[in-house]
Amino acid sequence: MLRLAGVEKRLSDKDIMKGLILENEDVFCESECEEIMRVITRKPCINQYKCNVVIEMRGEVFKKAIRKGKLFLNLVATYVSEYMETVQCFKCWRFGHTQKRCGRMSRVTSVENNIEAGMIVVKGLLIA
Ligand SMILES: [Zn+2]
Repeated sequence: MLRLAGVEKRLSDKDIMKGLILENEDVFCESECEEIMRVITRKPCINQYKCNVVIEMRGEVFKKAIRKGKLFLNLVATYVSEYMETVQCFKCWRFGHTQKRCGRMSRVTSVENNIEAGMIVVKGLLIA
């Protein structure tokens, strides 16, 4: 994931994605932002009017952006860096996404399914 530092808070996710594509033609060749990236979350920044935006990007685009070190957004050079955070889903307990974006069945359901399949689950740990 990519972290875009100091992005104006008033910009919507769509504005950010469209802006990045329009202003950084050397990085983004396509015009359909939904296929290239999506905004995952926004983190607070020292400046109260700005935030740090975490964006998930397609591999080759991500590499280009990191190599470049900055992306233009609203005519401002915005610094980019690789963003790594261990996100864990409270619904299925897997890593890499949050409950809001979970497409899997809940942990309770999967535990029941494991028991049905003959597996023993103790305190949430699969032991057999
Ligand atoms: Zn999940």
